Amino acid sequence: MKRRRLCALGAALLVTGGTASSGREADPDALAIPVEGIKASELVDSWTSVRSGGRSHRAIDIPAPIGTPVLAAMDGRIEKLFASDRGGLTIYQRSPDGRLILYYAHLQGYRRGLAEGDAVRKGQVIATVGASGNADPAFPHLHFQLLATEPGSGWNVGEPVNPYPLLTGRRGRP
Ligand SMILES: [Zn+2]
Repeated sequence: MKRRRLCALGAALLVTGGTASSGREADPDALAIPVEGIKASELVDSWTSVRSGGRSHRAIDIPAPIGTPVLAAMDGRIEKLFASDRGGLTIYQRSPDGRLILYYAHLQGYRRGLAEGDAVRKGQVIATVGASGNADPAFPHLHFQLLATEPGSGWNVGEPVNPYPLLTGRRGRP
């Protein structure tokens, strides 16, 4: 079933994103929190929030002042820099194994010189928090989404995976 598959993907991500030592259980440090200065305890799980048209959110919103550095949540490569009506200025990053797309939206701006194809390291500044696209200007935040996909897929193709447990080191809710 879909739910089971997503849980398995989340577990795989935790393990492969962890340290090189083998035999480790899920590593809570697998994903960096992608906004500078934010602690795991400050994150709110907004995965199931309902949005316009009955869509569910399937991402996490991380509030922060405009201009706060946005950090790469893991190593990878910048696959697409894209501007859309909803997301505003966005970045799509792909994981080293090609199986995960990291989507950062409502950005104020990209790090100077950032380009498609660039390799980025976990924790590196890639952009700044904003309220572009359909974000409420009174609520600047990073909209951060994970898409489980296959190597060679389109840059925006995948099945959303809840980032919250992966960012906080907590297990997904049953
Ligand atoms: Zn959002």
